[in-house]
Amino acid sequence: MPPKAPSGEGSLAVIGGGLVGCALALALARAGLPVTLLDQGPAPGAVMDDRRTVALAPDVLAFLAGLGIEVAASDYQHMTVWEHAGPAALHFSAEELGLARLGAIVENDRLRYDLVQALTAAGVTLRWGAAVTGVRWPSAGADPALCLGDEAPMPVRIVCAADGGQSPLRGMAGIGTQDEPMGQRAVVTTVITERPHEATAWQRFLPTGPLAFLPLADDEAGRHRCSVVWSADEPEARALEALDDEAFCAALGEAFEYRLGAILAAKPRAAFPLGQRHADRYAAPGLVLLGDAAHVIHPLAGQGVNLGVRDVMALVPVLRQGAEQGTLGNPRIFARYERSRRRDNALMLRALSALKRGFAPAAGPLSWLRQGGLGWLDHQPAVRQRFMVQALGLHGPQPHPLKEGVVS
Ligand SMILES: Cc1cc2nc3c(=O)[nH]c(=O)nc-3n(C[C@H](O)[C@H](O)[C@H](O)COP(=O)(O)OP(=O)(O)OC[C@H]3O[C@@H](n4cnc5c(N)ncnc54)[C@H](O)[C@@H]3O)c2cc1C
Repeated sequence: MPPKAPSGEGSLAVIGGGLVGCALALALARAGLPVTLLDQGPAPGAVMDDRRTVALAPDVLAFLAGLGIEVAASDYQHMTVWEHAGPAALHFSAEELGLARLGAIVENDRLRYDLVQALTAAGVTLRWGAAVTGVRWPSAGADPALCLGDEAPMPVRIVCAADGGQSPLRGMAGIGTQDEPMGQRAVVTTVITERPHEATAWQRFLPTGPLAFLPLADDEAGRHRCSVVWSADEPEARALEALDDEAFCAALGEAFEYRLGAILAAKPRAAFPLGQRHADRYAAPGLVLLGDAAHVIHPLAGQGVNLGVRDVMALVPVLRQGAEQGTLGNPRIFARYERSRRRDNALMLRALSALKRGFAPAAGPLSWLRQGGLGWLDHQPAVRQRFMVQALGLHGPQPHPLKEGVVS
């Protein structure tokens, strides 16, 4: 007897239960579409790791709120950027853009947990511990089918791959990527600082890479917390990972020029390899890519999840229309999604490459120019505002795809 057909058959399949996949699954469910989410890992538990955080932009926070996710977050109203070679600095504030906040820092695990709770409440079929090992791509009008180990292939109407930067699904479809290895690692942790963070996201460019302090809520004992992302060239990052806590806190305080006083304590560190990657195509017959599966960006500007959720905003109306018209199998329906999102994602990838190169160590004229440039920019409100709108991805009000119809 053939193995029993797995549950979720005939639905829109989202592969990957990271932040982007969960946001897509929830948006599809809210749009009334049958959706199944599969992830090879275990269901997110109630145990939270506060070391990994993301800075979410106002449009992304508003989109999540529209899905019923009121994110537990630390708002920030200011951003300060400076570099190692001199005193010039760049200051941004929400007030000058007429915003209540520039964004909010969210703990990854907390947001993912909230999304999964909402998915469960919405009745979405969730399959944890389900690794997609192959895909039977559509042919002669048949739907694609997911292969999950020994189970009978599971026919689905479309495969939405949000399976991360390595994206096995992208590989299975034979979609190539443009890669920009950076030879860097990001060391992340949560620290206790002597002074409060002033609702400011701080970024200092060091000769070996950027160091970010992102504001978090005080802990129960009233101690001031920040999330730290310290990007550094491989050898330096490995050395930072190997330091004992006391030496790490001392090195961090010095690298940050004690802007928030001494670093009083740090949680155990985690580290991630850094690089940029862009998929050659976002769609193939039976498949569409989003999130890190389509584009991996340096965390310098904290944009990975923001770009991924903007993919969701653009994709949901297309999927909804395709489901209604029975055209999901036709990759041409994703042309508009790919056009609009590729433009945005490529712009951000290029900007990050240029920024990283621009702040690479330099002596003499380049360093002088950079210092002059930062100082000049800080005194040009109009240019600075345009820069900030671009850097934060605030291209004006975004229509909510569940309320406003198809985004073009
Ligand atoms: C140090 C660091 C700091 C960052 N800071 C920020 C920030 O401040 N702001 C921001 O917006 N972004 C930030 N980012 C980027 C952000 O973390 C990523 O862009 C985001 O997590 C990608 O989400 P995703 O859902 O696309 O992929 P992932 O989170 O990688 O999820 C992919 C999921 O797919 C599953 N999967 C993979 N293969 C299979 C398979 N074959 N079958 C089933 N399931 C599978 C995996 O188990 C995983 O759960 C940062 C990144 C780093 C490294």
